[in-house]
Amino acid sequence: MTFSLHGQAVSAGIAIGRAHLISNAILEVAHYQVREKDVEAELARFEHARQVIAGELANLHEEASAPGAPTELAAFVEVHAMLLADPLLAETPKQLIRERRCNAEWALVQQMETLVAQFDEMDDSYLRERRSDVVQVVERVLKALQGKARRISRRKAASEDELIVVANDLSPADTIQFKNLKIGGFVTDLGGSTSHTAIVARSLAIPAVVGMQHARPLIQDDDLLILDGTRGVLIVDPDPGVLREYRLRRTELELDRSKLKRLIGSRSRTLDGEDVELHANIELPQDTERAREVGADGVGLFRTEFLFMNRDELPGEEEQFEAYRAVVKAMNGKPVTIRTLDIGADKEARALRTRAGNRVSPNPALGLRAIRFCLAEPQLFLVQLRAILRASHFGKVRLLIPMLAHAHEIEQTLSLIELARLQLADARQKLSRVDVGGMIEIPAAALALGPFLRKLDFLSIGTNDLIQYTLAIDRTDDAVAHLYDPLHPAVLRLMAQTIQSAQRALMPVAVCGEMAGDPKLTKLLLGMGLRQFSMHPSQLLEVKQQVMMSDSAQLALRVAKMLKLDERDKIAELVEKL
Ligand code: PEP
Ligand code: MG
Repeated sequence: MTFSLHGQAVSAGIAIGRAHLISNAILEVAHYQVREKDVEAELARFEHARQVIAGELANLHEEASAPGAPTELAAFVEVHAMLLADPLLAETPKQLIRERRCNAEWALVQQMETLVAQFDEMDDSYLRERRSDVVQVVERVLKALQGKARRISRRKAASEDELIVVANDLSPADTIQFKNLKIGGFVTDLGGSTSHTAIVARSLAIPAVVGMQHARPLIQDDDLLILDGTRGVLIVDPDPGVLREYRLRRTELELDRSKLKRLIGSRSRTLDGEDVELHANIELPQDTERAREVGADGVGLFRTEFLFMNRDELPGEEEQFEAYRAVVKAMNGKPVTIRTLDIGADKEARALRTRAGNRVSPNPALGLRAIRFCLAEPQLFLVQLRAILRASHFGKVRLLIPMLAHAHEIEQTLSLIELARLQLADARQKLSRVDVGGMIEIPAAALALGPFLRKLDFLSIGTNDLIQYTLAIDRTDDAVAHLYDPLHPAVLRLMAQTIQSAQRALMPVAVCGEMAGDPKLTKLLLGMGLRQFSMHPSQLLEVKQQVMMSDSAQLALRVAKMLKLDERDKIAELVEKL
């Protein structure tokens, strides 16, 4: 039976392929024994997680009973609620916690494995199917206990068909693994448009839709899917006519993309002769290939934290140095902006769990992330700084520091960079000059730029976080995704002020957040005076096309007027007309 689902379009394009449900059974959980005196607390932790999920299911049931909701949904929610309340899942894990002092996750997974084995032996096909419900309920509770890394199966990805991954949620660490697999696209039930999961999808240039709400429970492995990453639509089991239409649209899109390739050798210059630099955002060294293919002017943002994910040991100085040097050499003299470790919030690294941030932060986006974490772990930070500085001998390296807000953070960072330099000088390592820049992604930084202008060499505006922190909207939370608004007048003013102040101080300034890669916003940013953009290589040619059709002087006048407006909708209307 054909049906369609809607979510947030986060990475454009059309994928047609078979569903690959991320298997919950491969959820990895930590196994440890709790101390006798902590047993009661562990029982309470388990019960709390169960209650959280019971609440979620109750809400979902209400939604599922609303007119127009898919009928399958209500039944599925009821089954899950029943299983959650069943003593086999509610009580037996508690016994394991009490008697064997297993941690809650371990106890739950053990019991799940016992139940799954029993279901596997059943002859009744209806009951056998309940096996996946048990696994899904357990996954929900585990998720409430703590977020966990998953390994994406390679077995299926090797097949000829395009695979469309369907998951309840994917962490950035999960998604980065798609770089080595052939994935046609993905959908998730949770997530926001500038979550790092969505960002990685754009960098992969594969269609993706997040915040689908009910895709995972309604879709089965190997279902035929059409994923429209431009409109945010997923069609399950499509009619032949619809399939034909989408195949045609996919071919048209491929044609448009190949036409854009003609711009690769063209100069990125506005109609009135302003040169505009277009740099690439990368996550892994191998991404430089795409950056070079589209003729990027350099790497404007290397998100180094992805080197730290999906592994048990931290990358040491040599390994990091090799990775940075590979990028610098691949860019062949073009500048490479290496951002120091921006771990925390939605970006998790197993190997860092025992470090300063080894506590569940009550609000990870406001917690010990990025530079805050690095300053709390100076030895770990120095390893990275030395590796980056050493790479400077092989090309033009720029160091970019994320999440700065305070003058003392800038000072401490600069002192550590100096210390790393001295350590390398002692070891007779060859280094070249490295400019040090700061990300402007906290409103406080944008509003009090003085120390940034006095102490640093360049700025890069991170609009993803700047929007998150200006509007108090968690960028990963689909429940508030509709309020995450790049065109909010407050956001635009903070950006415009930063660009103008930097230019007055003759300090280079770029935008490296997702706004820089949105061709619908190119003229707005040019009108603010921006001349350095950094984005995923897949977006670069479309942005260049916009630059080449723009008159920057005229845009400056129109944008200046727009920035005085307070009405968001009026601004949106004018942006469209630019
Ligand atoms: C940003 O916040 O805009 C940014 C570029 O950094 P990240 O998306 O990695 O947080
Ligand atoms: Mg950021």
